[in-house]
Parts: sequence; C-alpha cells; structure tokens
Amino acid sequence: MQYFPMFLKLEGRPCLVVGGGDVAARKVSLLLRAGGKVTVIAPSLCESLQSRLNAGDIKVQQKKFEAADIGDHAVIIAATDDKSINRTISELAQQKNIPVNVVDQPELCSFIVPSIIDRSPVQVAVSTGGASPVLARLLRARLETMIPSAYGKLASLMEEFRGKVRQHVKDPDKRRHFWETVVQGPIAEMVFSGKEEAAREAMHTAIDQGEHASSSRGEVYLVGAGPGDPDLLTFRALRLLQQADVIVYDRLVSEEILELARRDADLVYVGKERDRHTLPQEDINQMLARIAKKGKRVLRLKGGDPFIFGRGGEEIETLMQAGVPFQIVPGITAAAGAASYGGIPLTHRDYAQSVLFVTGHLKDGSMNLNWKALVQPNQTVVVYMGLLGAKLLCGKLIEHGMRPDMPIALVQQATTPQQKVFIGTLRTMPGIIEQNIIKPPTLIIVGEVVQLHNKLAWFAPTR
Ligand code: SAH
Repeated sequence: MQYFPMFLKLEGRPCLVVGGGDVAARKVSLLLRAGGKVTVIAPSLCESLQSRLNAGDIKVQQKKFEAADIGDHAVIIAATDDKSINRTISELAQQKNIPVNVVDQPELCSFIVPSIIDRSPVQVAVSTGGASPVLARLLRARLETMIPSAYGKLASLMEEFRGKVRQHVKDPDKRRHFWETVVQGPIAEMVFSGKEEAAREAMHTAIDQGEHASSSRGEVYLVGAGPGDPDLLTFRALRLLQQADVIVYDRLVSEEILELARRDADLVYVGKERDRHTLPQEDINQMLARIAKKGKRVLRLKGGDPFIFGRGGEEIETLMQAGVPFQIVPGITAAAGAASYGGIPLTHRDYAQSVLFVTGHLKDGSMNLNWKALVQPNQTVVVYMGLLGAKLLCGKLIEHGMRPDMPIALVQQATTPQQKVFIGTLRTMPGIIEQNIIKPPTLIIVGEVVQLHNKLAWFAPTR
C-alpha cells in the first residue's frame, strides 16, 4: 500500500489554498464542503473565487505567497502554475508536518486527493496513487451509477434507528441480518424513491417485529427498459435489474437488456401481444402480486416507458389492492428514442409547437381516434402500434384535411442496430410499406418535422 487512506476532519479548521485559478477554486469548494475555514493567497482571483469572496465564504490575501504564510494550517493545497513556488510551499509545509497537496505534481505531495463519490454521510474515495487520475475518475463514474443518489439519506435513517434496533434486536448476528434486510429490501427502496416517511414507518414496524421480522418482504419494480439500446436504461433500472429475484418481461425487451439481470434471477416471459400464447393482462397483474407475496423482488420490465401505452397503470392497481409495495421507474419512450436516433425533432420552432402520442392499434379493423385533433397545424403526431393500420391512418388523415404530401416517417426498431427509417408522404407511405420488409416494432411520425431527417440523421447502425 503506497498511501494510507483516511478521512480528515476539517470542520472549523484553517485551510490554505495558494493560487487563484479555476483549479484552486475547485479545491476551495471541496474544502468548504468539509467545513474548512479557507484562506486563499493569490495575486488575482478567477470569477468563481471572486464570488466566493463576495459571498463571505473565504478569506483572501491578494498577494504572492511568502514563507511566513505557511502558518499552522490543518492542510495546504498549492495550485499555482509556478513550479518553484509550488516546491517551496511543499518543502515548508512538510518541515512543519502540515499535510500538503500540490496539484498535478505528485512528487511534491504528502497526501493526494481521491476521486469522491459523496453521499454524505456515506463517502467513497477512489485513488490510483496518482498513477492515473483519468482512471480514478472513470472508476468513480462507474460507482456513481451503482450507488443511488439517496444513499446518504439511507445512512442517516439507519443512524437514526441504530439505538432503537440495538435495544430491540439483542443478538448481534440477528441484528446484522436485520440491517442487511433493511439495506437490500423495500425500506431502502422506499428511501431511494423518495418515500422517507413510509420508510420510517416501515422501520418502526420491522423493529416491533424485532427478531421475528420476516427476513424479506416481496416487492415489485415496474421498470421502463427504454426503446432497445441498453445504454438508454436509467441508473435505477440497471441497479434494480441487478437485484431483482424474478424478471417478468415481454417481447419489446431486448436480449442485451435481459443480460444485465442478476445471473441467478428467474426470467419469466409473458408473451407477445399478437401471439396466441399471450398471457392475458389480468393474469400478469395477478402473477406479479403472487410472486411478490412469496417474498420475492419482482421486476416487471416493459419496453419504453411503463406509463405510455404500457398498461403499467393496471398492473399497479392490482398491487395496490393486494397491498404489495412497488415502485415505478420511468424509461425512454419509443417516441423519444425514435425521434433522437432518427434525427427527427418532435417539436421545432418553425414546424411544430406540440406533439401528440396516439395508438394506431386496430380494433375490428378500424382506428378509434379523434381525427380532428390529429390534423391540427403545427403539430407532430406520433403513432404507436401503427404498422398494421398505417394505410388506414394515411387515408383518414387526408380525408380529414391533412395535405397528402405531408411528410411521414416510419422508424423500424429504433435505437437498435436494426434501426431503419422510411420517409415518405401520406400518399406514398402505404406503397413504401408494401414494397419493403418491415420488422416490428415500428413507430410512425407525421408532421413537417419529418423533413428535418434529411439534415439531421446521424445514427448509422453498423449491423
Ligand atoms: N411503453 C412503450 C410502448 C409500448 S406499445 C413505450 O413507451 O415506448 C408498443 C409500441 O411501441 C410498438 O408497437 C411500437 O409502435 C412502439 N415501439 C416500442 N419500441 C420501439 C422501437 N424500438 N422502435 C420503434 N417503435 C417502438
């Protein structure tokens, strides 16, 4: 071990930063976050240090550094671009055993500043011993995605209940088990999804049950998987994928995304919409509640966003009635994915001030839509589930007054390597669909904005 890791208490203690540039300003911010009393020595200040000074956050001596300035600070950071001054500061500080850091000159440092993941009171520090700050930052970014932003709140909650838990759960092994259940179960998830009061109540209940508390309570995560590209998952979706015991998914969820699930999770396929083997929605609703009640963490994974043509509302209604705890994680809906990856902005100052999402699902061979609302000017219409009814759609739009040469796009398998964008007009699109082999899922975009595809298309799938 090249360096001994430790966390230094700086609250109320004098800290010195030499240098007045942006790098110095970043170090000052860090020291202030730790409660240090910061003095800056520099002949001139960058804007952000000047505003710190104006706000009374720091003291400043506007001058060059001199030996006497070393004083008895708790910590010193040198961030000047003058190497000889940096060296002097380092030597003087080390003579007095004051921890000193010289930015970008590891040989002059008696301590180094790690990359920090701050979920106060939880802190994770990453260091490569100065070998590669870029690597440390990369690692930090990875950890940031894995540690929920409300982790600090969870730690505070645990601190709040520590004494009480110790009183009620006397056996140390059982106590450890109790806390493990809290951090990995519904209580933690309540905190992460902003339901702190509910988490507190659940803590009280769990404590009352004490050593007899059931080891785990089931719950359901209703998660949007986005349009296909696994990179478009949210941090939360990824974290829950890696902790769920059972994953219930359907046809829209890509394999790459399923691969991100915990290795030993049970994967349950609930069928294709137009498939004979489809599990009726009511059965899915009941199934989620049933598995969760067995104490499992069930992740219901849906394409796009669960609340946009996703029947997410029905699923949680059943959970509500069954008293099963759940949370909902939004996803990038197909319209947003197809628009971005297809180079078709859904709104645009010159072409569209509003956007309408509709379903083109056929019922008994017809589409039950408010056609008058669809043909309004300066509006983009996005049609989900519209491939089978595309011809009917184009005809109806013309019939209700949309000009026949209105541009329309059909985006196949948006955001995936199989993405294809077909561009036409209301008049030509039915022919285009007939002449091409088009693979679902597809999304239809109607409106002037579709012209922009020619200028803005950027995503070129490689496969
Ligand atoms: N909840 C989903 C929509 C489910 S309805 C969401 O928010 O995206 C299913 C329809 O979504 C499909 O018929 C298709 O119109 C559209 N869709 C989903 N993923 C798509 C994709 N990758 N490319 C194009 N359309 C997609």
